[in-house]
Order: sequence, then C-alpha cells, then structure tokens
Amino acid sequence: MTEKFGFTQLSPDEFEGWIKKQNVARTVLYVQQHHTWSPNYLHFKGENHFDMQRGMQNFHKNVNGWMDIGQHFSIFPDGQIVTGRNLEHSPACIFGFNANSICIENIGNFDADGHEMNKAQRDAIIAVTAALCKRFNIPVSSKRIVYHHWFDLRTGARTDGSGTTKSCPGTTHFFGGNKVADAEKHFLPLVEKAVKGEPVSPPPKLLQYGFVTATWLNIRNQPTAKARKMNATPYGSVLRVYETKSGWYRISANKQEWVSGRYVQAVQRATVNATALNVRSGPGTQFNIVNQVTKGEEVFVYAEDGNWGQISLDDRWVSKKYLDID
Ligand SMILES: [Zn+2]
Repeated sequence: MTEKFGFTQLSPDEFEGWIKKQNVARTVLYVQQHHTWSPNYLHFKGENHFDMQRGMQNFHKNVNGWMDIGQHFSIFPDGQIVTGRNLEHSPACIFGFNANSICIENIGNFDADGHEMNKAQRDAIIAVTAALCKRFNIPVSSKRIVYHHWFDLRTGARTDGSGTTKSCPGTTHFFGGNKVADAEKHFLPLVEKAVKGEPVSPPPKLLQYGFVTATWLNIRNQPTAKARKMNATPYGSVLRVYETKSGWYRISANKQEWVSGRYVQAVQRATVNATALNVRSGPGTQFNIVNQVTKGEEVFVYAEDGNWGQISLDDRWVSKKYLDID
C-alpha cells in the first residue's frame, strides 16, 4: 500500500481488508463499471498509476468543473487499484444514477478497436467488485452491479442499452461485452463465485420483506416456539422472508433462522424514480416537507393512504407516483 497526491494504491489482496475498515455512512446500493477509453493501455507505463490518477482528477476538476475526480476507484492494467473520490460522496459517473453508487473506472479502451484486457486487471475487477458487494451487502445481480451503457445519457433513465448511450465499459473486451446478458453470463457469475468462495448457485427466492412489530422478536432454530432461541431482533428491523411454515417465517437465505410471523408486518420495497422527491409529515401536499429522497434511493413502504406511501415508522410520507414498487 502506497500513497501519493492524496490517493492510495492497493493490490487486489490489500483491497478487501482496506475496504472493510472504511467507515461509510452513505448508503451504498450499487457498483458501477466503466472503462476510461482514454487514458488507456497506451498511456500506462507500468509505474505511472498516481500520475495518471492525478491527470484524470485535474481533467475532471478543471475541464469538467467537478468537485473532485469522478470515480471512487481506478483499476489499472496491472491489477493495481488507486483510490479517488471520498466514499462519502456520490460519484460523477452516470448521469441520473450516481446516488447510492460506488464508481469503478477500469483503465483501458475495451471497445472493438481497443485492447484485450490483461488477466491481472480482469482478476482485480472481479476481486474489487466482490469485496464491495461483501462490504456493503450488495447482492450480485444486474440490478445492483451496473454498466454505464445501460443508462440513457440525456434522461438518466435505465434503458438496458437502448436510446442515447455510451459503449462504456466496452463493447468487446470487457467480460464478453456491454449488454445486460453479457454481464449476467460472463461477469456476474465470476463475482458471485468470488463473493462466496464456492461454486455459483442461483440466488434464493425472497418471498417478502417485513418489519418487526414486537419490542424484541426472538429468532429460533426451528419454526416453533419450543425451538432454541438463537438471537433477537428489535422493533422496526426490516427482515427478509424466504419461506413460511405454519405461521413462522424463515429470515435467512441459507440458515435455519425462524421468527413468528405474528410479529412481522409486510412492507414493500420501492425505488425512487424522481430526481428529488419531497418527504412530508403526512399523506398529502398540505403537510410539511421534512426531507427529500433522490432518484435510485431504496425505500420501504410501511403503510399506504390513497396515493401516499409511508416510508418510515415515523410520519414520513411520499407520493407513490414517484416510487417504483417491486
Ligand atoms: Zn462510463
């Protein structure tokens, strides 16, 4: 691990330990993949990681007028990782989709006229993406690990590649291409494998989300009140339900962890689809604005009143028109 110009350079092995130690209050739900196109393999001389990172930072600040370098991490052709923007700040990498994201810029041009990706860089991209998924509990899916190509440049909407888009992270040499199907076939299974350290299996099916209505809800190792108590979870926690059995809910994807369904009330998961959505103290525009949520933010809807949804156990309401409910 070395430092220069305020950046830190890490090997893929160092990265997982390093990211575990970073305190990040910002909610991170997405990992973005990009290629730089330029600079690329022609500019990398084997030792000029910091100079290249500072060059991009200068360009982003002086030419683009941004607060800092756009990306959180750059991954170089030799597999070395260099830090960029502070993790507490959203990146400047995908118009309309920067909130709750971490942005990775992979140094290179991976379009058809570009370069084959080096194995060291390929392995580092897998390792870094997997380490971020583990650190921020991000499921390995094309909903959460996203390519720049999937977003319309003018509207910021996710189009999966139609409309006006960039080719980023590369049409050809980025894990078999830049389509959603390419990611799902050639990239995400490798990340999944690295996350689990074992053969890839399909993600377990989630039945629903629910929140705890008891002061403390006991977690037991079988779906019965006589089973051993393993732990307890407090009021308001949002749980995931994978299986139900005689009024009991299994809340772990791969462990026998059960809670009584009597104390779990269903909530709906939703994503904000407005650039900035006012949060009000009650279900209507006559109530005070108490906060805002932004596009791409994940919320849970606890209750509904007409066209309004309650997104917190406190009185925090938003218009359902601006929510994409799962
Ligand atoms: Zn990009």
